[in-house]
Amino acid sequence: MSSPDILVIGAGTAGIPCAISGAEAGARVAVVEKTAELGGTLHISAGQMSAAGSRVQRAREIEDSPQEHYDDVMCIGHGYADPELLEQAVTEAASTLDWLGELEFPFPEDMPIVYYGHDPYSRARTIWGVEMGVSILKTIQPRFEELVDAGSIELHLEHRLERLLLDGGRVIGVAGTASSGPFEFPAPHVVLTTGGYAASRALFTELHPNVHCLLGARESSTGDGIQAAREIGADLRGAEHHLPTPGCIELEPGSGKTDIWDAFANAAPQYRAIKEIHVNDRGERFLREDEPSADARERALAAQGGRAWIVFDEAMLDDDDPVIVGWTADMVRDEAVRGERVWRADTLEQLAEAAGMDAPGLLATTEAYNAGVRDGDDLLGRQQLDGQLATAPFYAIAIHAGTVVGFAGLTVDRELRVLDQAGSPIPGLYAAGEVIGVAALMGDGYGGGMCVTPALSFGRILGRRLAGLAVTS
Ligand SMILES: Cc1cc2nc3c(=O)[nH]c(=O)nc-3n(C[C@H](O)[C@H](O)[C@H](O)COP(=O)(O)OP(=O)(O)OC[C@H]3O[C@@H](n4cnc5c(N)ncnc54)[C@H](O)[C@@H]3O)c2cc1C
Repeated sequence: MSSPDILVIGAGTAGIPCAISGAEAGARVAVVEKTAELGGTLHISAGQMSAAGSRVQRAREIEDSPQEHYDDVMCIGHGYADPELLEQAVTEAASTLDWLGELEFPFPEDMPIVYYGHDPYSRARTIWGVEMGVSILKTIQPRFEELVDAGSIELHLEHRLERLLLDGGRVIGVAGTASSGPFEFPAPHVVLTTGGYAASRALFTELHPNVHCLLGARESSTGDGIQAAREIGADLRGAEHHLPTPGCIELEPGSGKTDIWDAFANAAPQYRAIKEIHVNDRGERFLREDEPSADARERALAAQGGRAWIVFDEAMLDDDDPVIVGWTADMVRDEAVRGERVWRADTLEQLAEAAGMDAPGLLATTEAYNAGVRDGDDLLGRQQLDGQLATAPFYAIAIHAGTVVGFAGLTVDRELRVLDQAGSPIPGLYAAGEVIGVAALMGDGYGGGMCVTPALSFGRILGRRLAGLAVTS
């Protein structure tokens, strides 16, 4: 293939559907991917999607509409999502799910559901495959590879975009480095689907200074597309929004990283009985631990500087309902022997000293909490008051604010054209997926499925639209 009609940078959640729909609409497509494999964040994403009016929702007789989806996301995101982009995302979502169905996505029988890991939608519209993000990848990858085999998509793995090439203010291609050396690819339409920046400490800190947050995105999410576009004058928005995922555990002390599949404290009272208390470095509780709103829990931890401890006693260790997803009581005890992320002590005073929180504060807090359990009347209004914290030994687990996504990203218009700082489209440059920042679609909150579903949808929209331009020009 000489010069393609569409050059897609990044073969992940948004890039693969973009290439497929562009090629299916008759365009010559080339794809540049810096890693050695397809799929991007789909390899580790929970892959939750949400759509109103899909075939699968109708088959389960669930009444829903894009307008209700829009209203729910706006409400959860405190009104900060981009109205035009959100409207387009919720309108397209059902057709994206139907498309996955045509490619034989294995929809589980018991979904869509109302999911409570984020603030819930008013309708059952969240769905994911048994292999989470990998279920999506296994559904779309075969079609992508068919088109590669047919010569409709040219794939360049292990090619890293470094710069956008400009001519008179128009993007005319990209330059970068491959294992074989430097490369330059010309193209009339360049689509950035390079993902977010939540694996880049430098960019995260620049965009969200003074925010303590462990980074839990895929290693490839280093904000390359954002940086390349900024270098040619693209506008960035959304950095004022950042809401952490609470309950993250640091991988190695001091690493600044987390892996939610390795260790994650589940504090959703809809999914487990909450027995423990959560305290800050003063040893004080800062929320009712059975707070039903995920949004409220996220903000409460952020207000403590993103650090806290889960404190519980021996009687609360429960293999069937663990504090840390997948951790047995013995795993907690083993971690406590290391004394880096989990601590154990015979008294609360010793526990506070070992873990690094204020001992008198923790003693006073525990006394007041136990009195509330006895009286059935908790100071912070907690409803789940099943047992006093009184059976030694006592445990503390350090939890942190973390993130798996970047809220900020490139400003795009309704046509997904990247805008410059004056608000004008940069000719030849488009973007979809997390590179436009998750705040664009979710605002200041977590609307379930509102990263993966719009990434798939906007990829498809751009592929179709740009193929239309190529075929008619
Ligand atoms: C643990 C976890 C769980 C999540 N769960 C959910 C969920 O349940 N629901 C939801 O909606 N969202 C979820 N998200 C977020 C969601 O998965 C991502 O926002 C989305 O998958 C990002 O898609 P993308 O196409 O923008 O980026 P990616 O899928 O990451 O694709 C970007 C691709 O670009 C490539 N690339 C990057 N830089 C370059 C370069 N310089 N040159 C060439 N190629 C490059 C990367 O290697 C990658 O293949 C989760 C994220 C994580 C980490």
